[in-house]
Amino acid sequence: MDNYFWSLLGGEVERQPDLEVRVLADSAGRKASGLKGDIDELRQTIDKLVLITRALWEIIAESRGLNDEYLINKVNEIDLRDGTLDGKMKTSIKKCPSCGRTMSQSRGACLYCGTKDTEANPFDRINTDSRKDLTQWLM
Ligand SMILES: [Zn+2]
Repeated sequence: MDNYFWSLLGGEVERQPDLEVRVLADSAGRKASGLKGDIDELRQTIDKLVLITRALWEIIAESRGLNDEYLINKVNEIDLRDGTLDGKMKTSIKKCPSCGRTMSQSRGACLYCGTKDTEANPFDRINTDSRKDLTQWLM
């Protein structure tokens, strides 16, 4: 760490511990500021997703004569598919039927041999790139 700061300062300036602390504090402050922006963006995305989900639910409930109890039961049924009623969906690890290696659910195909995961549903296939696309669509 010391060598890094000395090289930044040309290595000939008298050591200034206070300056090092300020540089580190500034760097930490910039990182924290960037993370706050990321969190704010995620909150906006979640708010929009909740709004869209609520609108979709009300359209379906009105057209099919369903009530909130039906929705709650369905959410609990899906939540229990991973064996735990905890409000989260844990992704399970799958083995490739062709080569036996671990398959990523987000790819929809084996990384090693290319065998398609025919059991994966569209929600399993949402990967980082498509999340970015969704976020851009929502903004
Ligand atoms: Zn494979």
